[in-house]
Amino acid sequence: MKITIDRDRCCGAGQCVLAAPDVFDQDDEEGLVIVLQESPAPEQHQAVREAASVCPTATIEVTE
Ligand code: SF4
Repeated sequence: MKITIDRDRCCGAGQCVLAAPDVFDQDDEEGLVIVLQESPAPEQHQAVREAASVCPTATIEVTE
């Protein structure tokens, strides 16, 4: 699995961090998404898929 993000789309809603806190974070200034693990471990995959699906701006792209 590989995660790519388009930070220009991120509105800082934080849904991804709630869904997968080991993989996503938000920066301190603007609250925009930070990817902590671009190639997450298998046990994180379900949480990452959920994060991508709940993101309101479709910022997170997941390649399986
Ligand atoms: S859920 Fe989407 S819009 Fe919200 S912080 Fe995460 S990537 Fe950004």
